[in-house]
Amino acid sequence: MTAPLRTDPTTVPVALGERSYDIVIGRGLIASLGPRIEALRPRARVFIVTDTNIELNHLDAVEETLAESAIAASQLIVPPGEGTKSFRVFERVCEAIIAARIERGDLVVALGGGVIGDLAGFAASAVRRGIDYVQVPTTLLAQVDSSVGGKTAINSAHGKNLIGAFHQPMLVVADTALLDTLPPREFRAGYAEVAKYGLLGDAAFFSWLEANWREVFAGGKASGSGAREHAIAVSCRAKAAIVARDERETGDRALLNLGHTFGHALEAACGFSDRLLHGEAVAAGMALAFEFSARLGLLSPAEAERAIRHLAEVGLPTRPKDIAGGLPDADALMALMAQDKKVKRGALTFILVRGIGAAFVERGVDAVQVRGFLSEKLAER
Ligand code: ADP
Ligand code: ZN
Repeated sequence: MTAPLRTDPTTVPVALGERSYDIVIGRGLIASLGPRIEALRPRARVFIVTDTNIELNHLDAVEETLAESAIAASQLIVPPGEGTKSFRVFERVCEAIIAARIERGDLVVALGGGVIGDLAGFAASAVRRGIDYVQVPTTLLAQVDSSVGGKTAINSAHGKNLIGAFHQPMLVVADTALLDTLPPREFRAGYAEVAKYGLLGDAAFFSWLEANWREVFAGGKASGSGAREHAIAVSCRAKAAIVARDERETGDRALLNLGHTFGHALEAACGFSDRLLHGEAVAAGMALAFEFSARLGLLSPAEAERAIRHLAEVGLPTRPKDIAGGLPDADALMALMAQDKKVKRGALTFILVRGIGAAFVERGVDAVQVRGFLSEKLAER
């Protein structure tokens, strides 16, 4: 086996005052994790939280770089999957961190996808009232989404992500080569959030994705093109700019929810299961948001069609009929939308679009119109 090509790392700063940190993006970066941690926190001990899939593929590389920098490390390996974001596993993580004598000044390393980032980040926020953490995201979704913004959480019996904290990492190391072992379906689902940044605010980036998405998926293993790194850096920069303006999600940050209101309803309807991954739901939700916006006369049907065509081209679902298995009716989907924590006092807030790259927050969306639109789309099945 040949060693993976390395690219010069790109640094995306996340400017949040004294909680500012850098996201470093590049192929083969994992080997620099030890020196980076040593530079950040000399003599700190490290506690790694990861899941069994990542253990299999990447834990050795992490242990190796930490050992080379003579960093004392211990770890906890948890089962993969959303079920791990529970009180039960949260307790295990907290107790394991304490048992390993990790103190303030030491570091937690979240090595994994969104599940591990959320769980380990929340445990780090809580143990000893807050321990710093470094994120090593291993999914595309986590590299472009969970790595910016500091949201950490576990799930409640009442819903997803209802128990958590804002806790910014000290550093994010996004090694794009880690994504080579990601199941293709997971990569594609994460790509929906990459496309989202083009669709919500950057038409030129969206055009670039239309031309270069195959390279982003291929990852430059052979060509060393840097397309994957570029797509991730642009996405992180876009999210960082929005989060810097609105750390606690009161205004602008809502734009990041493009496709998420419809998407969450579909995800909930599928029981947050493997039937529909988060990114797949977001893709279908964005397609619905574009079509609904066209219906309202905000943009031409041709432009909505262009947005939807790209999502379909990469293999993401864009219509209710692309989702396997049954879906509930429009009323049930409306009820699921109303349960979304982003709904304020019954008013439907939607992210609508005036074009590709021109999303805006609309707080007074007519529920009757949404319902009519949804029942029409469901009838197409
Ligand atoms: P997300 O980041 O999409 O929220 P998860 O944390 O649930 O996702 O990870 C999705 C799945 O992919 C999990 O089963 C996880 O164990 C697995 N996984 C994560 N990163 C990698 C990787 N680099 N290689 C192989 N499998 C991975
Ligand atoms: Zn999302």
